[in-house]
Amino acid sequence: MGPHSQPMNEPVLSYIRGSAEREALERTLRDMSTTQIEIPAIVAGTEVRSDDTATLTAPHNHDLALAKVHRSSRDTVEQAITAAVEAQRDWADWTFEERATVFLRAADLLAGPWRQTLNAATMLGQSKTVYQAEIDSACELIDFLRFNVAFAKQIIESQPLSSPGVSNQLDYRSLEGFVYAVTPFNFTAIGGNLACAPALMGNSVVWKPAASAALSNYLFLQLLHEAGLPRGVINFVPGEAGAVSSAVVGSPHFAGLHFTGSTAVFDSLWNQISERLPEYASYPRLVGETGGKDFVLAHASADIDSLAVALLRGAFEYQGQKCSAASRAYIPKSIWPQVRERLLDDLSRVKMGDVTDFQNFIGAVIDRKAFNRIRGFIERANESTTAKVIAGGKTDDSRGFFVTPTVLLEENPHSELMQDEIFGPVLTVHVYEDGRWEDILRLVDQTSSYALTGAVFGQDRKALQVAQKALRHAAGNFYINDKPTGAVVGQQPFGGARRSGTNDKAGSYLNLLRWTSPRTIKETSIPPTSFEYPYMK
Ligand code: NAD
Repeated sequence: MGPHSQPMNEPVLSYIRGSAEREALERTLRDMSTTQIEIPAIVAGTEVRSDDTATLTAPHNHDLALAKVHRSSRDTVEQAITAAVEAQRDWADWTFEERATVFLRAADLLAGPWRQTLNAATMLGQSKTVYQAEIDSACELIDFLRFNVAFAKQIIESQPLSSPGVSNQLDYRSLEGFVYAVTPFNFTAIGGNLACAPALMGNSVVWKPAASAALSNYLFLQLLHEAGLPRGVINFVPGEAGAVSSAVVGSPHFAGLHFTGSTAVFDSLWNQISERLPEYASYPRLVGETGGKDFVLAHASADIDSLAVALLRGAFEYQGQKCSAASRAYIPKSIWPQVRERLLDDLSRVKMGDVTDFQNFIGAVIDRKAFNRIRGFIERANESTTAKVIAGGKTDDSRGFFVTPTVLLEENPHSELMQDEIFGPVLTVHVYEDGRWEDILRLVDQTSSYALTGAVFGQDRKALQVAQKALRHAAGNFYINDKPTGAVVGQQPFGGARRSGTNDKAGSYLNLLRWTSPRTIKETSIPPTSFEYPYMK
C-alpha cells in the first residue's frame, strides 16, 4: 500500500489447529520461551546497557524468565533527549510521503514476517491468549500504522482559501522539541502508536515503555528500524518511571506528552509539567487517555443471551485489563435470574491458565501489584454487608498471578466496587427495580468520575433513545447492544472524557492534530507600493 491508498482493517487470523499461522506462532513461542534476551535502552539507534537490571518473567509462570531489562540511568535519559533533538532537525524536513513510507513498510513487516514475533512476545510478556494478542499486537498496531497515514494526509490536504493575488497555505510543522511517550502494559498497539503517531507528523520521541510490556515494545522498535526509521527519531528508555519522567519533563525541549495509563499518574505528570511551564520553549501538548469504570446497562427489553455474552467477554477477556472492560452492570430485576443463570453457566466453562495452552480463555493478571490490588477489592467485598460473591473470587499466585473471573452482586450502588477502577477480572452487578429507567440512567451517569466506555442493551427503541441522550457525557465510546470493548481503528475512534482523559481519540485525525503546530504562509503577488488609501486622495 502506498501513501495515497485507502487503508483496510487488517484481517484477524484464525489460528485453528493445522493452520500455517498457528504452526509459526507455536514455533516462535517455543524459541522465545527458551532464550532470555537483553533489553537495553536504545539511544540514537545504539544499545545502552546499565548495571541496574531487572528480570522480566511471564505473568502466568514465575519460572519463565523472558528478558533482562536494563534500566536507564539519568545520563542515558539525557542522551536520549539530545539524540531526539538532533534527529528531529533532519526528520522534520523529510516530506510527508517519505515519512509515511517508513510506517507503511513497518505495517507490512508486522503483517508478514514479524507478526508471530510480536504476537509471541505479547502472549508471553503480557499474558494474552492468542486471539487477544492477534487483535492487539498484529491487527490493531498494523491498523494504527496504516490509518494514521491516511488521516495525516487528510490533515495536510486541509488548506485555507487563496484570493486573487494572494496565495495562502498551512505548513503542518512538527512541534519544536521532542514528544515524551509514556505507555501502558495492556496493549502493545497502544505502546507502538503513542510513539509512532507523533513521529509520523515529523516529531522525534523519547519512549518510556511500561516495565511489563518491555519485551514486545522493544521488538517493535527493532521492526521500525528495519522498516527504515532513522536512528534517534524514536529513543527507547525503559527504567524507573518516576526518575525517567522527572529527567524528561525537566528538559526545555520537552514539547508534548503522549500518555496512556492510570489517571493518578497522568495527574502527577500534568502537575510536574505545569510547575515548569516557563522553562519550556513552547506550551507542551498534553494528551492522556486514562482510567475507566465502564458500564453495561440493561433495559428490561434486552435480549438475554447477547447481554450475558457481552458481560462475559466485556468483563473478562484479557483478565479485565482493558481500559474499556465492563466493570459495573445494572440489570433489571425481571430478567436478572435468566441473565445470572446464563452468565454463571458460561463462566463455569471458562478455562484459565498458561496462554500457550490454546484452550485457555484467560491468562494471569500482569504483576504482583495488580494481583494484590484486585485481591484487596475481593477481600473487602467478602467483608461487606452489601456485596456478595456469586462466581469466582479465588486468587492463587503460586505459579502465576491468577484471579478467577469474579462476579459480585452489590446492593449499594455507590460502593467502591461500583465507583472505582479495579482493572482485573471482576464484574459488579447492581440489580434495579423495573420501571425506574430514568432514575437508573441518572445513577449510571453520576456514579463514577470516569467516562470512558459504556453499553446499553435493549430492544425498546424509545428506551434506547432516552438512554443515549441521558448518558451523552457518561462515555466517550458508547455501545448499543454490543460489549463496551473492542474498538477498531478507523471505525470507532477511541477515548473518553471526564477523568478518563483528554479524549483526543486515538486512531483518528483528531489525535494527529495534537502533534502538529501549523504555520500560516501568505504570499502576495504584487504588494502595494504606497501607504495611502484611495479615499485619502
Ligand atoms: P500506569 O499508570 O501504572 O502506567 C502507565 C505508564 O506510566 C507506564 O509506562 C508506567 O511505567 C508509567 N508510570 C507509572 N508511574 C509513573 C510515575 N510516577 N511517573 C511517570 N510515569 C509513571 O498504568 P498501567 O497499569 O500500565 O495501565 C493501566 C491503566 O491504563 C488503567 O488505568 C487503564 O484504564 C489505563 N488505560 C487507558 C486507556 C485509554 O485509552 N483510556 C487504554 C489503556 C489503558
